[in-house]
Amino acid sequence: MRLLLVEDDSMIGEAVLDLLRAEHHAVDWVRDGDMADTALRTQRYDLVLLDLGLPRRDGLAVLRDLRARKDRTPVLVATARDAVPDRIAGLDAGADDYVLKPYDLDELLARIRALLRRAAGRAEPIYEHAGVSLNPSTHEATVNGEPVQLSAREWSVLEPLIARPGVVLSRTQLEEKLYGWKDEISSNAVEVYIHGLRKKLGAELIQTVRGLGYCVPKGGSGA
Ligand code: CA
Repeated sequence: MRLLLVEDDSMIGEAVLDLLRAEHHAVDWVRDGDMADTALRTQRYDLVLLDLGLPRRDGLAVLRDLRARKDRTPVLVATARDAVPDRIAGLDAGADDYVLKPYDLDELLARIRALLRRAAGRAEPIYEHAGVSLNPSTHEATVNGEPVQLSAREWSVLEPLIARPGVVLSRTQLEEKLYGWKDEISSNAVEVYIHGLRKKLGAELIQTVRGLGYCVPKGGSGA
């Protein structure tokens, strides 16, 4: 998934960036409120991890502006452990959840998984579709019960598709799940990963929708 990390502390930012990338997310990192606002106006994200104490513009102002634009991007606000009023203000400004700093990294990842799940309109923690199962907390994939090894980038392409069966994602939308700002994009990368996924998971799971993109069809059977 494509995530925006808003964090002004370099050490925390680098640690969280590494953590999220290790979870196969494409992450853009900005360090002040103005840059966060610009990023949110120019790029679609699956989730924002928003520190509230920021230079230039505080996180609450960024969040209020986002919601004033009726932008529903899931937002997880980060607040200090003893700052209950900040948590309340964050939730009331439109945050979906909060996480405490200093971070417990395992808890941070679990809250991100929960928010991404809810944003996709799902309650169940494991994706299961047409004989394929993906577990976002362990990164284990199986086909008809048999384990399959997926690369990080194959996972990044498949997860947004299997999360919402029937929804078509364009090649550009899938590229956005794969790469952050600083990564080079090769023009046929998505096709290459889709090809690899079909070889591993069966040709039927991901369908090409001519001229539009790709989807995991609703109610598919047999992988
Ligand atoms: Ca801060």
